[in-house]
Amino acid sequence: MRTALLAALAVLLIAPASAIAFVTVRHERAAIMAGQGLAGAAGHDAAGRPNARNGGVQSGPPDATPGARPASLDGLVRQALQDQAAALLAGDRDGFLRQVDPGAGGLRDDLARRFGSLQQLHVKVWQPTVEGKTKADAGGTASATVMIKYCFVVPSCDPMSLEAPTRWKVAGAAVTLLEFGTSKDLGPRPWEVSDLRTAVGDRVVMSTTAKYASRLPSMLAAAEKAAALTDTFARWGAPPARYVVYLAGPDEWSSWYGIRQEAWVAGFALPLTASATEIVLNAARVDTRQTLDVLRHEFTHVVTLAGVEKAYDHTWWLVEGIAEYVRVKGGGKPFDGLGDVRTYVRSGHWKGEVALDDPDAGATTADVSGRYGVAYLSLQHLADRFGEDRLLDFFDYAARQGLPLDAAAQKAFSMGWTDVESDCARYVRGRI
Ligand SMILES: [Zn+2]
Repeated sequence: MRTALLAALAVLLIAPASAIAFVTVRHERAAIMAGQGLAGAAGHDAAGRPNARNGGVQSGPPDATPGARPASLDGLVRQALQDQAAALLAGDRDGFLRQVDPGAGGLRDDLARRFGSLQQLHVKVWQPTVEGKTKADAGGTASATVMIKYCFVVPSCDPMSLEAPTRWKVAGAAVTLLEFGTSKDLGPRPWEVSDLRTAVGDRVVMSTTAKYASRLPSMLAAAEKAAALTDTFARWGAPPARYVVYLAGPDEWSSWYGIRQEAWVAGFALPLTASATEIVLNAARVDTRQTLDVLRHEFTHVVTLAGVEKAYDHTWWLVEGIAEYVRVKGGGKPFDGLGDVRTYVRSGHWKGEVALDDPDAGATTADVSGRYGVAYLSLQHLADRFGEDRLLDFFDYAARQGLPLDAAAQKAFSMGWTDVESDCARYVRGRI
């Protein structure tokens, strides 16, 4: 059975900046789309700091103060976190677990698993800091919210970050860990809860559970090919040091990042910060053969929207259109969604508008698929007529910088938006 490629986008509001999740969908033709995008996404911390642009960080152990014994409770906790970070970066499992209190239940096993997964991911930066101050609680315990910036594979990157709650036992001048929670925002991260196996390529880190580990070599090879193409579209900044891709089995699919995804969604791109975006693929939907196609689309989101802190809810057609444009271009075959566009146009649901917003939650599969097709055909036409460079200029002005469409069209194409839109609409009708 032919499967259609759909891509759906959901807007996640994360203060202060907005972020987005893109969803690429593969589904059987007869499937009913119960709703688009992300369902039940985790709430976001009002402070939003994990999602703020962090800037680059350098590798190396955090600021340690060897020899100096911290006098305050807060100092003790910070020192413990720094010791743990140094052990993690040194590959010292015993050192990483040394802070765990013997009476902390399953925490030791939990952190041992995290240590193993982080080593699999080649963790190279791990910078924990206490948000505010450590708070003394009743019964000889203390609590602290820990912010961690981290990078995989390379010692310098635009770091990912998270905030997690911790609880400590305080005994004189010693603190030991009683609890180390998972990310409050878009958590748990895969490595926080799953025993991961990882393959590292020149451009991509791909990680999954033991059950799917045998797929890693062939899927990584496909992902590397996708990255080679999408790297060339990273014209507004360097491409990521590594694209990070997680392959989720059914259990992980509905738990990683605190997101309950629909089973028919093939994958999505999740911006963790303004410049760090991770991709999750659904192992039940994406096999090795489909990986290249899906990741051309998803990686395009990573590079075309990197470094932008704004909402995309009014530029959906540009965001998805550019991802489809690159996917189709990379595939070297004719666009595979013309039938869906034909159905959509003939349904009468398309009013001829090109600047489409993301589909309503109640939209049918056919309508959603048709909207992606209209977005793709419009961008393809602009590339054919004005050249790819000017298409990308237009994308920059309208989607990245947020200029009104008319101003963006004047700057990129030297014509007004009304003319551009009617030209694209004519082209769409002409293709079906
Ligand atoms: Zn997409």
